[in-house]
Amino acid sequence: MGTQYHISIPLISSSTHPQPNQKHLKKEIDGLLQAINQEMSTYIADSTISRFNQSHSPAWFPVSKEFLYVIQSAQKISLDSQGAFDITVMPLVNLWGFGTSSNNKFPTQAEINDLRNNIGYQLLETQQYPPAIRKKNPKLMIDLSAIAKGYAVDAVADLLRQKSLKNFLVEIGGEIRTQGKNKNKTLWKVAIEKPTTLQRSVQQGLLLDNIAVATSGDYRNYYEKAGKRYSHTINPKTGKPITHKLASVTVLHQSTMIADAQATAIMVLGEQKGKEYAQKQGLEVYMIFREGGKFSVWHNLSTKRLLLHRPLHH
Ligand code: ADP
Ligand code: MG
Repeated sequence: MGTQYHISIPLISSSTHPQPNQKHLKKEIDGLLQAINQEMSTYIADSTISRFNQSHSPAWFPVSKEFLYVIQSAQKISLDSQGAFDITVMPLVNLWGFGTSSNNKFPTQAEINDLRNNIGYQLLETQQYPPAIRKKNPKLMIDLSAIAKGYAVDAVADLLRQKSLKNFLVEIGGEIRTQGKNKNKTLWKVAIEKPTTLQRSVQQGLLLDNIAVATSGDYRNYYEKAGKRYSHTINPKTGKPITHKLASVTVLHQSTMIADAQATAIMVLGEQKGKEYAQKQGLEVYMIFREGGKFSVWHNLSTKRLLLHRPLHH
């Protein structure tokens, strides 16, 4: 997934279940993540997703039921967000220089218009039995970068639960699922970063009670041209990177996959529509806006989730 992962399992003594062997567990987790990559990574040439992207056939393309589940979840969020979230934006991600194939030239409007003909979540169909997907346009391509990390976090958390582990934190590329307590036997504490590029500092500490947290932002993966910021989130309606004041969106949810995808959806919708969407969807969100050199915040998290003091030592 082009990123790092980090899992914490505190050694809280438990009489009923012995702690699993650490080396063995790591091997199992690595195997699980490799299997997910082999399906969902566009960086692997023979992954399921890459084979689907390379194919121009309109026939049903068989996939695993896990793969189908991620696609259907993505399609649901596309419908809900009226196309703000769209896994078929991949050709535009590449055109703007954020994908697997880089592009140094600044795109022209003609190039954007040309690619937009092959984009749209409605051009992707799914079938339950047997699990399969198909493209209505031979050039359609899909990209799960905005949802697969969250899915993988949930998959690792499920594996840990199967091992009867009750306390853990799983993080992949910034998307996090917590369960139970940390080594100090208190709820897990996680920080939302200030959306700045140069230094990393805490914006808001959170106390997480068996819940996932995912953030989308414009402050890590972007470039600047003529004083304008171009970030890796594409607005499917314009075919261009988002340019509004929203600097980061954090979503809390039972499902890391949904938190991950909804954070991206809200990032695309922007300040006002994003807020309305979050409320309509009943999502717990923390949004940070950039205005001039200053940040402002809007959130609907309950106070029990907010830490008053800086929770981290680094
Ligand atoms: P991060 O990778 O920093 O966690 P996101 O979860 O927001 O951020 O995913 C951003 C990635 O999703 C982009 O790099 C791109 O590959 C893809 N993407 C860009 N725009 C969209 C969109 N409108 N809908 C779905 N995926 C998108
Ligand atoms: Mg995301």
